[in-house]
Amino acid sequence: MLAKTKHYMKQANLVGGEWIKADSGDVIKVTNPANGLEIGTVPSSGKAETKRAIAAADAAFDSFKNTTANERANMLRRMYEIMMDNVDPLAELLTMEQGKPLVEARGEITIGASYILWFAEEARRVYGNVVPSPWADRRMMVTKEPVGVIAAITPWNFPSSMLARKIGPAIAAGCTSVVKPASQTPYSALAWGAIAEEAGLPPGVINIVTGKASEIGGEITKNPAVKKVTFTGSTEVGKILIRQCASTVKKVSMELGGNAPFIVFNDADIDRAVEGAIAAKYRNSGQTCVCTNRFYVQSRVYKQFVEKFAAAAAKLRVGPSLEGNNDQGPLIDEASVEKVEELVADAVKRGGTIVTGGKRHSLGGNFYEPTVISDAKPRMRFSKEEIFGPVAPIYKFTKEEDAIRLANDTEFGLASYFYTQDLGRAYRVMEGLNYGLVGVNEGVITTPEAPFGGHKESGLGSEGGAEGIHEYLDTKYVCIGGLGL
Ligand code: ADP
Repeated sequence: MLAKTKHYMKQANLVGGEWIKADSGDVIKVTNPANGLEIGTVPSSGKAETKRAIAAADAAFDSFKNTTANERANMLRRMYEIMMDNVDPLAELLTMEQGKPLVEARGEITIGASYILWFAEEARRVYGNVVPSPWADRRMMVTKEPVGVIAAITPWNFPSSMLARKIGPAIAAGCTSVVKPASQTPYSALAWGAIAEEAGLPPGVINIVTGKASEIGGEITKNPAVKKVTFTGSTEVGKILIRQCASTVKKVSMELGGNAPFIVFNDADIDRAVEGAIAAKYRNSGQTCVCTNRFYVQSRVYKQFVEKFAAAAAKLRVGPSLEGNNDQGPLIDEASVEKVEELVADAVKRGGTIVTGGKRHSLGGNFYEPTVISDAKPRMRFSKEEIFGPVAPIYKFTKEEDAIRLANDTEFGLASYFYTQDLGRAYRVMEGLNYGLVGVNEGVITTPEAPFGGHKESGLGSEGGAEGIHEYLDTKYVCIGGLGL
């Protein structure tokens, strides 16, 4: 382990500028998914610790709300620079706890840093409005204010960059935060606390509590001092949090599950589609909410696409992510491997054909082979369920309108992709897809400059883009009367 990795691996909560244990002294073990070995521990905190973290954020907000946009932009810029100076140790920490290949971990640290830089720039462009008044003796203005204390709950698949998308705009807007990372991957989140300290953020602006999800979540959603909850995770937990937030009418942003379609039309550039399909499916071992869950390929190019795609999938190098040049690491845990096994068994039982992969990798543990299944049918479980693993089901379709209908036949609406070289078709399909993100002839499209967010049960609100910071701002309308005009 690099010396700097050790430095960023904080095994404590961060509350009001202090690194502290759980009240009980209890801990949660954190393991490396590539070998099951313990890396370290973090506090097993609950309601009381969360309450104090919220109080610390609330106290810090009193002065942080009065900082200038310039000051906050400079803090964020310093955080960006610290990130970029420490890509290697932060990537090592991320890979150790999450399992993704180092090259992907470096990419995640870099993109997380770029979200911070984006929001450093956005901080200074939070404009209000002067509205033409319908009254001769009154003037009207609309201003933006930070919502106050926000709480961020993050998942294990992008434990660093998912938090960047939340604390970046929060700091830019002048909000203070309480963060609860996923217990599988707490260190990448705790590292943000260390980075914030190094960048000179005042104590209490970022507080981080690890531990019991439902207890911490219960306090976060009930406590009246928290004005907004931003969550990335499953639709199931998102619904619980929305319900819990109703009691104190908090603002919510939700980045939830997906069921991404990837459509390949007869007129597509097949080699380009295969390249995009590999990235859109196997990145992070298929464990992203924008990973393709269903491939729809038009009949004339179906055979060709399946052959080329399966050949490319079979070439992916699977192995421990800290060793060698591997393309695909382990899945996060045994339960995820079992779920993938169940979905593959269901598909085979219902007539699916395994073209490549289809079983646990010979490396054992949490490793699973990159898998391609042809002859996929709507009756198979993965048509409706998020796979979250390296399995690519390929369905055949004939008509353009069928592809759009099938792609939209889900309660989810996060990412979608399609490949065509026909301009008219590109517009028809783009407008027909009920998704928050559409990649046309591209398999990876996320960037801080663009809003990221789902339609339907995939979420509420956007992260990144010009929209991102507004999720952390309240609008205030002021009417000034009696001007004697
Ligand atoms: P995944 O299936 O990716 O693990 P989850 O939605 O279960 O997604 O978890 C995402 C985040 O939500 C994690 O930080 C997890 O600990 C947290 N979480 C899970 N259940 C709850 C809950 N009841 N209240 C608050 N947070 C929760």
